[in-house]
Amino acid sequence: MRFSLLFSLFLFSFASLIAQPDRWQQRAEYTMEIDMNVNKDQYEGKQTLKYYNNSPDTLTKVFYHLYFNAFQPGSMMDVRNLTLPDADRRVGDRISKLTDKEIGYIKPGALLRDGTPQAYVVEGTIMEVNLAKPILPGATTTFQLDWEAQVPLQIRRSGRDNKEGVEYSMAQWYPKMAEYDYQGWHANPYVGREFYHVWSDFDVKITIDRNYVIGGTGYLQNAEEIGYGYAAEPAKRGKKITYHFKAPKVGDFVWAADPNYRHTSLKRADGMTMHFFFQPGEKTTTNWQNLPVVMDEAFAFINEHYGHYPYEQYSFIQGGDGGMEYPMATLITGERSFPSLVGVSVHELMHSWYQHLMGTNESLYSWMDEGFTSWASSEVMNHLRKKGLIGGDVQDNPHARTYAGLRAFRTSGRQEAISVHSDHFATNAAYGVAAYTNGAVFQEQLRYIIGEEAHKRTLHRYFNEWAYKHPNPNDFIRVAEKTSGMELDWYKEYWVYMTDYADYAVKSVDAEKKQSKVTLEKIGRMPMPVEVLVTLKNGDERWFYTAPRILRGTKPQPAYAKKWTVMADWPWTNPTYEFTIDVAKADIKSVELNPTGRMFENNVENNKWEE
Ligand SMILES: [Zn+2]
Repeated sequence: MRFSLLFSLFLFSFASLIAQPDRWQQRAEYTMEIDMNVNKDQYEGKQTLKYYNNSPDTLTKVFYHLYFNAFQPGSMMDVRNLTLPDADRRVGDRISKLTDKEIGYIKPGALLRDGTPQAYVVEGTIMEVNLAKPILPGATTTFQLDWEAQVPLQIRRSGRDNKEGVEYSMAQWYPKMAEYDYQGWHANPYVGREFYHVWSDFDVKITIDRNYVIGGTGYLQNAEEIGYGYAAEPAKRGKKITYHFKAPKVGDFVWAADPNYRHTSLKRADGMTMHFFFQPGEKTTTNWQNLPVVMDEAFAFINEHYGHYPYEQYSFIQGGDGGMEYPMATLITGERSFPSLVGVSVHELMHSWYQHLMGTNESLYSWMDEGFTSWASSEVMNHLRKKGLIGGDVQDNPHARTYAGLRAFRTSGRQEAISVHSDHFATNAAYGVAAYTNGAVFQEQLRYIIGEEAHKRTLHRYFNEWAYKHPNPNDFIRVAEKTSGMELDWYKEYWVYMTDYADYAVKSVDAEKKQSKVTLEKIGRMPMPVEVLVTLKNGDERWFYTAPRILRGTKPQPAYAKKWTVMADWPWTNPTYEFTIDVAKADIKSVELNPTGRMFENNVENNKWEE
């Protein structure tokens, strides 16, 4: 295909032109054929998996994920959701009540390694293969595996017959090689949370009754053969048909199928195509017809600010149980208000950057995926408001509510450090705040620390240097250090591994002859740069800025501060900081620190002195 060639050229030049951080990546090539029995909601699959051990290590084992096995009474996911104090309502006790015809399973048959039978054991959602012969560093090997599967009733993300009546939401549907990276194997049992992947090429053939329309990851190879034309509806009669998809260098492959899907598409000015699959109806048709033009603008903004989307296609597909991101596609429930439909579409699309192009290990660093995604989504939504494409007022700080949410949650006493493994938080709420809220605040606060321009460059450089490389928190903060020239390790250490944040106060404003002395107090444990806005009675505004000495730098004058004074550094050991202003106290109306609210503080009630 023309595109595959272009894509490889793109990757090649990408790799050769930019100095690459040193991080090897495993690689897989999946060739799969599945045959659906839509009467029984079962299918048979055949998989050939060519696996490239690009690591410097000798592998004596490999692991496959068999995600569908989670949807069985007594599974780890079932027990986890029965015992969590605040289980996801979509799961709750529903797995424990599934009947034999409603459970999900993947039952692997014989496994061949380079043509030779290979033993394995299955424990829940993980298939462990103790290799008869190890895979040497740099070696390539081919596994062949047949399997039988049953699609579970829709519980979480994947399954049949979701609440809106979409028949098949097919995520996590095939035996999937676990990722091995510089931190070793990541064979996490599936308890309903995060994912991690090997960069893979997929060649997938799905045979299903002719009346089904399929959307998913990958480029359809035989649109003409199946009368699908990517705009027309397929013929409604006849026997089975085989859809053939290819997807280059992605981490996963999702698809969804329904006889009632309407398929529309919009080709963007840059040549890529957006596809939309939805069930027409009172609650869907108008909104889904209005969605493409909005997402076109969203794509333009995202490409400009966060790096250009490298694939030729993206599909918004009605399905699943909310919104879930996959490579080149998303499954979202479709019977929503228009703002909600746009919101979920933007969020899941944004994951193409912070989950699927970066490939962050969500189990370990979900905040680098969900948090960065949430932060960027708020920026995109604000842009769409500016453009008048969605309702609502343009917000001065579109992250203000995120900050307030974090502040409120901290009073519950349930907050955990964001370094906790995603599966192992004590409550769903703590996980949610750590991943989404904390991660978003991390990003906005970083922009506050290093300034607008350096932050912009950070996001571009992060994309250019770390796409397809599974970056970790240190990799990200190093990029921010290089673009800003500042030292930011302390910021990462406090925000990632601890839950002690900043809090500063205006302690006093005292008259000193014709001048005024302002005393600031550091109450929280975490140091931060501090901005103080002094407003005079004549309406004049003066900004004063002090950075922690360990930042080893100061940000440029922000656009919002017309009169900007950079003062001496504030050593983090010192509980107070004094500075003098050349204005009589009687002329001062107010002294306010952190007026933009972009520094996260436990307490924002102690920030302002007023006459
Ligand atoms: Zn998300």
